[in-house]
Amino acid sequence: MVRIVLDAGHGGQDSGAVGNGLKEKDLTLAIVKHIGRLLGDYESVEVHYTRTDDRFLELSERAAIANKLKADYFISVHINAGGGTGFESYIFNNTKDAKTIAYQNVIHAEIMKAIGNVTDRGKKRANYAVLRETHMPAILTENLFIDNASDATKLKSEQFLLQVAYGHVVGLEKAFGLKKKGGKATVQKVSVKDDVAGHWAEQSIRKAMKAGIIKGHSDGRFGPDEPVTRAQLAVILDRLGLLK
Ligand SMILES: [Zn+2]
Repeated sequence: MVRIVLDAGHGGQDSGAVGNGLKEKDLTLAIVKHIGRLLGDYESVEVHYTRTDDRFLELSERAAIANKLKADYFISVHINAGGGTGFESYIFNNTKDAKTIAYQNVIHAEIMKAIGNVTDRGKKRANYAVLRETHMPAILTENLFIDNASDATKLKSEQFLLQVAYGHVVGLEKAFGLKKKGGKATVQKVSVKDDVAGHWAEQSIRKAMKAGIIKGHSDGRFGPDEPVTRAQLAVILDRLGLLK
């Protein structure tokens, strides 16, 4: 059983960001409800919400709900503001937890795939209360900018909100190896050692590994953002056949 807590950002007297006739608190609730409904198609998933209506909750209450439930994963859904465009996701800035990182990689990538032609602002880290105070892997997604006219046009479409939710759900399917009800698992559970999935250079890395030019670590990690030593560079040049 995978227990997931869905957190619709803001609510009640806290509207969150506002712009173009939209309120963040309404969009986050709509997206979270789509996510929950879509997760109903999967076996062995238990969905909980921090709120299912327009009410105010302190940030620490949201984390406390997930902690009390001993959830396996916490997803906080937000809409961005402040001048910009596109999608970004956050994990806690001090985390070294391999699952937290692996889940962000795969969920971020699936959301980007699901929402089409949208700027990828990247996988980020921040000291946000809900990420800091939750005792399980957690992610916070910032789904476009409410104060950007073109982003807001998308956010006004229920179909787009559904695509946003679908991206979250396919990401969860891959992260946790979820199985559709009455069906076979269509995807492999992501390995927490697979730190290449969702990386911006994933395709090139996989090619380099397949060709035996650059190998991964013995524990299965690749370490895509680790620097190359002079010795490793010499070996790479040799494997490329560039040396006499
Ligand atoms: Zn927010």
